[in-house]
Amino acid sequence: MPKDRERTLIAPFFSPFYSSLLPAVFKPLGYRLDVLPPQDKASVEYGLKNINNDMCYPAVLVAGDIIKAFQSGQYDPKKTSIILTQTGGQCRASSYVSLIRKGLTDAGLEDVPIIALSNEDINPQPGFIIDKKELIKRMALCIIFTDPLIQMYLSTVVREDNRGDSKALHAKYLSEMETGIERADYHYLLNLLEKAVADFNNVKVSDLPIPRIGVVGEIFVKYNFFSNGNIIEWLSEQGVEVVLPCLQNFFAQRFVNEDFDQKAFFKHSIVDSLKHKLIYIYTRYHLYQIERVMQQFRFYRKPFNLKDLAEITGEVVSLANQFGEGWLLTAEMIAMLNEGIGNIVCLQPFGCISNHITGRGLEKKLKEMFPHLNLLSLDMDAGASEVNILNRLHFMIIAAWEEMEYGAEVTTRHATMTMSFPGFRIWPKDTAIFDNYVSLEIEKAKAWVSGLNLWKKASDFIRK
Ligand code: SF4
Repeated sequence: MPKDRERTLIAPFFSPFYSSLLPAVFKPLGYRLDVLPPQDKASVEYGLKNINNDMCYPAVLVAGDIIKAFQSGQYDPKKTSIILTQTGGQCRASSYVSLIRKGLTDAGLEDVPIIALSNEDINPQPGFIIDKKELIKRMALCIIFTDPLIQMYLSTVVREDNRGDSKALHAKYLSEMETGIERADYHYLLNLLEKAVADFNNVKVSDLPIPRIGVVGEIFVKYNFFSNGNIIEWLSEQGVEVVLPCLQNFFAQRFVNEDFDQKAFFKHSIVDSLKHKLIYIYTRYHLYQIERVMQQFRFYRKPFNLKDLAEITGEVVSLANQFGEGWLLTAEMIAMLNEGIGNIVCLQPFGCISNHITGRGLEKKLKEMFPHLNLLSLDMDAGASEVNILNRLHFMIIAAWEEMEYGAEVTTRHATMTMSFPGFRIWPKDTAIFDNYVSLEIEKAKAWVSGLNLWKKASDFIRK
């Protein structure tokens, strides 16, 4: 038995949408994998203590979380290995291994092996022997089947009559998917998806129109609830449908990149080109089956064709931007704008240069092409002010209600933050706008209260 197989693998928590399936990916391949619990403030503190604070926020958080796990005493360093995904290339994610290694060495844990799952050969570990083909197959199944589940969850949760129905269904199917992932059984998962579509279609929902807000950004802060201040759930609770791009596109962009790189002479390999073309055809076939099932979902949204979208995106930004989210970030915004979603939140971690370029950096150009764009760029970092973020999100919610009611023109006007509430008609939409205004004031009051000490609060209250 390979030596590393006796060790428990620990992986940092990524997202409640995906992470719980990881143990099922590794179990049939002979490894026990534990996903660490969701990050918290202590993870940030450990990260800031051990990692240079000019690193991007996800790097600080992931490294801090792993060091925290060992410091808790829960994992025996002699029987544990760390496993991480690495993109390779210019993104700072390529430095996670060295960062964590440094942090662990400082903490006296220099012998813990770190396994990097990557396209590139980062920090090879001879003791880690795994069937790569089976691993990739299971990872791919995880992603292509969890994406539609998330889409159903996000469109239903905001409309449901009985609070909690959608969440319970999402959790149920996510857990039932484990069997299909362990067996790498595509047809089992497809049948399960059909059942999920039927169950989501049966959830009692309200008929009232719902505004939509797109959330794009860097992969970690977009899907990781702690690092994005839980804005996805928060927006849903405010009565807004969150439109979140699929994780599979992050990997599928590889097909476009391969074509582009070969045409631009960044690389020249007929074998690679052929290999990518065959994998593309194979993947398209399987995605088409999923698509067919998803068409039965009552809030079905037709997905975009990534190759077509890349062509349009190429007019705005060079497809040579392939680090971080690269051109895909711009492409996802264009797809949303084409669908009529003008209000878009772009989540960018502090220290992430690549995503600042293809996200916020292209706002002006995108606005020229799509005047209804109302882009809210949020920088996520350890010191991000919750009140400031909520404050700005409240304005965006107001704009989203107006976009839905009056169309894109008003949204653009509202992007300038004019606080002109529509008349005195009491429609559900107007009530929601008023609610948002009130809760904004409440957030401000809460911030004021929590920022003062008790004695000062009491004396200020008496003085008032
Ligand atoms: S994409 Fe940006 S935030 Fe994410 S790991 Fe790379 S540099 Fe850091």
